[in-house]
Amino acid sequence: MSMKPDHRIVEVIALSGFDTPLAYAVPPTCADQVAVGSLVRMPLRRRSELGVVLRFGTDQVVPPGKLKMLYEVVQPYPVLPPDLVQLFHWVKSYYSATPEAVLEAMIPVSIRRGMKAKTRRYLVAAKAPSPQEMDTLEKRAPKQAELLRFLRQQIKPIARADLLKRMKISASACAGLVSKGFLRETETEEERVAYDDELSGGDTLLTEERHELTSEQAAAVDSIQAAIRKGVFSTRLLHGVTGSGKTEVYLNAVEQVVSAGGGVIFLVPEVALAPQTVGRVRARLEARGVHTVVWHSHLSEGERYDAWKALASGEAHVVVGARSAVFAPVRNLKLIIVDEEHEPSYKQEESPRYHGRDVAVYRALINKAVCILGSATPSLESLYNVERGKYGVDRILNRVDDRQLPKIHLVDMRREDLQGKGASPISRTLADKLVDRFEKREQSILFLNRRGFSTSLLCPDCGHVVSCEHCSTPMTFHRTDGKVHCHLCGEQRPAPGYCPECRSANIRKRGLGTQKIEDVVQKILPRARIVRMDADSMSKKNLYRKILNDFRIGKIDLLVGTQMIAKGLDFPNVTLVGLVDADRSLHVEDFRAAERTFQLIVQVSGRSGRGDRAGEVVIQTHTPHAPPIQFARQSDFEGFLLEELEQRREFNYPPFRHLIRHLFRGRNPEKVLFFMDQWVKELQAELGQQIEIRGPAPAPIEKIRDEYRFQLWYFAPSASKVIGPLRELRQGFKMDREVIDLIDVDPMNMS
Ligand code: ADP
Ligand code: ZN
Ligand code: ZN
Repeated sequence: MSMKPDHRIVEVIALSGFDTPLAYAVPPTCADQVAVGSLVRMPLRRRSELGVVLRFGTDQVVPPGKLKMLYEVVQPYPVLPPDLVQLFHWVKSYYSATPEAVLEAMIPVSIRRGMKAKTRRYLVAAKAPSPQEMDTLEKRAPKQAELLRFLRQQIKPIARADLLKRMKISASACAGLVSKGFLRETETEEERVAYDDELSGGDTLLTEERHELTSEQAAAVDSIQAAIRKGVFSTRLLHGVTGSGKTEVYLNAVEQVVSAGGGVIFLVPEVALAPQTVGRVRARLEARGVHTVVWHSHLSEGERYDAWKALASGEAHVVVGARSAVFAPVRNLKLIIVDEEHEPSYKQEESPRYHGRDVAVYRALINKAVCILGSATPSLESLYNVERGKYGVDRILNRVDDRQLPKIHLVDMRREDLQGKGASPISRTLADKLVDRFEKREQSILFLNRRGFSTSLLCPDCGHVVSCEHCSTPMTFHRTDGKVHCHLCGEQRPAPGYCPECRSANIRKRGLGTQKIEDVVQKILPRARIVRMDADSMSKKNLYRKILNDFRIGKIDLLVGTQMIAKGLDFPNVTLVGLVDADRSLHVEDFRAAERTFQLIVQVSGRSGRGDRAGEVVIQTHTPHAPPIQFARQSDFEGFLLEELEQRREFNYPPFRHLIRHLFRGRNPEKVLFFMDQWVKELQAELGQQIEIRGPAPAPIEKIRDEYRFQLWYFAPSASKVIGPLRELRQGFKMDREVIDLIDVDPMNMS
């Protein structure tokens, strides 16, 4: 079988979903354009569809005469360059996803729909009419004559649409002249510049100063540069405390790579952070003529298309973006940066359930590139990889300019609850410090744990919590309409005036919303300008930027928000940060609860004292002795890591083994469990040696939209080794049509 692949036949995977690649003949007209990774249009199911060429030649046996021909090649550049074709295969198998789901994640929708560069049509005079021809035209079609006369006087081609509109001439009149040969139409690709967005020019971007590196920064830069010079794959963890100037280190690496002609992917965990980062990158690179594009889900289709094309054509070399930018068609990719690598938002919660960080590492491997994972609170997975020598590490233990890490106070809210009548969510300590800062004209930020963001209704007499009938989850009280809402299925009803269970009239609200906190704080600081930032303001791109800007220039004294807003904020005048309910994230059914809590406290604390004045942090908690809280208070990363790793080792949880979560759901719980039992028997018989099966057990949220949910956990030393056989077994298993299942490899969401 050492035959050369036949270049007259290709295997194509359809974008619309078709499990196996299909063989097509390449017509001579596009023989030169077809490459592996090309987007092509082809006949399928009596329609014209799009697909991606995966290889030349085929092993499929197609009867002669049955082989259909491709229609055309859609883009001048392969939509999947060779490295992305390889990545496609890996993501598909590692995350056990369908090919179309993976292609959907990898290729922007505008490209998938076959969008082409916007073209403009131009008109130019061609054959000269004879005097008789002109005469006839004047009589029979005066409008055509007028258009022809006009164009014969022009030197340059004129844009067709504008001209016809201006002269009030119909398209058919124009077409008549073209068919007679008097006019010629030309098409040119309209140039839109991907990096000519709202961020270019103006703004504060061009003022990016270049800092003298601290010795720790310089050491990190040195070792990263050495890794880049080697030109082989490696992954390095940049573990730097908050405010240690990690961005400066990244920028140095980016400059080194682009000056050697390499391409860079810079991932940020949150769409909202992309503009800020792209600004800093551009401030360094534009002067060298190196262009950077932004890439995230809020771009319009046209903007995405432009960004994609700028990278695919090699016009831009650097992309900054959220998770999906890991699939950007960057040429000659030599460096991938994953900032805040511990963030769960890197994991996609729908198929393909890929982890942006892990895909980044794999893509770097394919490209013989360097991958830098940066964080003040690295994930245990990454720290473990350092421990066993898979990743290199650079540590920055001190903040820039010898700034101190903030002083952290713990407030035991149990004591506060006992002292105060009708306990306030803001302790005496925190309130005093808020007043103090306001008087000194310094700024503060109050954070709420996202888990505690909602307000539910609780009966103190019988413990009943008002829950959704369709989902096993507490409903959220909305003050605006006086109703309780289910955030899983959208169900809403009036809030009950008494307990539906025991009829007690004492039923009352529990939990804190940002709005409640805002009210309480406004009473403490009547004259302060307080602004609340929540999911709502995050989704409005301009409002978010405006609030942050107002805060930066001091128009706002106090910002209240969920930890969503904590990421990457850098405000020098903030000297106090309060975390209102630190332990909320400890009490969730997730083996990462301690890790999350530790990261949360360290990250929000890191927003304090980033300027010349020292910062302070107040952590309010009902469980002050919980290890993650104690370790975070002392900024003791090593201590936390050792203790937490010990726990994980004892239970043989990730990062010591991989976890695969297999979720089943259906309206009839007995039926779901019955099929799960059958499945487990088969799985145990076939793969029991390689994986440890736990369950079936109810999922933490037992019911959503009237469907009952159960899960199985599979533990295995290597996910990639078992996922193939697992999927094969599952494909051969006869599952009831009313039982739906999904497989999540390396899950982050345990609910
Ligand atoms: P991190 O991401 O590690 O929390 P940043 O990269 O946001 O930190 O840097 C924090 C602040 O310190 C920024 O305002 C940055 O401009 C500044 N900075 C970075 N490096 C230096 C340096 N070597 N000297 C002085 N200031 C620096
Ligand atoms: Zn009750
Ligand atoms: Zn519901």
